[in-house]
Amino acid sequence: MSTLTQADVELASNLIKNANNIVITSHKSPDGDAVGSSLGMYHILKEFGKDAQVILPDGLPEYLSFLPGSESIIFFDQQPEVSNKFIQEADLIFSLDYNVLHRTGEEMGVALSASKASFILIDHHQQPGSFPAVTYSDTSACSTCEMVYNFSQHLDPSYVLGKNAAECVYCGIMTDSGSFRFPSVSPHTHRVVAMLIENGLDHAAIHRAVYDTNLLDRLKLIGYALSEKLVVWEELMTAVLPLTAEELVRFNHRPGDTEGLVNQALSIKGVKVAVFIREGKNELKFSFRSKGGFDVNSFARNGWNGGGHINAAGGRTTESMEIALQRLKEELSQVSDLIKKS
Ligand code: 5GP
Ligand code: MN
Repeated sequence: MSTLTQADVELASNLIKNANNIVITSHKSPDGDAVGSSLGMYHILKEFGKDAQVILPDGLPEYLSFLPGSESIIFFDQQPEVSNKFIQEADLIFSLDYNVLHRTGEEMGVALSASKASFILIDHHQQPGSFPAVTYSDTSACSTCEMVYNFSQHLDPSYVLGKNAAECVYCGIMTDSGSFRFPSVSPHTHRVVAMLIENGLDHAAIHRAVYDTNLLDRLKLIGYALSEKLVVWEELMTAVLPLTAEELVRFNHRPGDTEGLVNQALSIKGVKVAVFIREGKNELKFSFRSKGGFDVNSFARNGWNGGGHINAAGGRTTESMEIALQRLKEELSQVSDLIKKS
């Protein structure tokens, strides 16, 4: 389902045609959809004859480094001056897989807000900001990558994605849809993927590169987390899994290593809400998930300085783990009727 009007398509087309300096951005702690959509758009623009620079707030998980074009990405936290220069000189900036500029992090958000460029937003999160010239927002889409595919077809209905673009787009669709199992997967999702495979995509190779490249440390971290740290608050139908910075260091944690843990917690029979908490440098980072109707987006927005989707959201706090867990329990208790009914 598209929310792009014909006027939006024409405006986007003209912005791309007339742009000399295009920058592509996505959110902090980029995941498969963030990196897939950014590099996918990069390859698509190349095939339309336009060059672009992908700038991400911070590093990729190792398991995404196989994506074609990843070596050309500039990371804002590693090269703030170079990144700022690209952002200042840009006349067109793509905002992919995020809804508001501060999702790129404080400093990159400020740099983007100060930019004179026109923005094209392509995203499936709720409540997109009002900063873009073109807003392609579809909260029902399973991934931004699916929308990037749609966007390419709006630009030119006869366009067939090349190998590089197809691999990136497929990676984001696969990872953000939980390998095609979330309710947001639609017949259209499968049609898009069918088209990519018909045109030569090796989908099994992408699956192997993402899911079959674990290090032993990661598997041990997952084993430890599930056997030693996972608790269920039965009266709240909630599973909670907190990991401290010390524990992460003990297992040589790398970005992306805890990806998916929250879904393991949610898979418990009778559990309707799962919360994964990871201690970072200055804050605790929360992942909220629900099955059924309980809205973790609102829950994360209201109490945890975050947001996302109805069934998947994130948040953060500078409280200690102990205080945060106590407050989490209190806030969940206040909505326990909603959880039970969901
Ligand atoms: P995750 O738990 O995987 O980090 O995030 C789950 C979902 O919530 C993702 O779609 C992610 O983009 C979104 N999300 C995570 N953290 C935040 C946040 O701080 N603010 C908002 N608005 N969305 C977030
Ligand atoms: Mn996404």
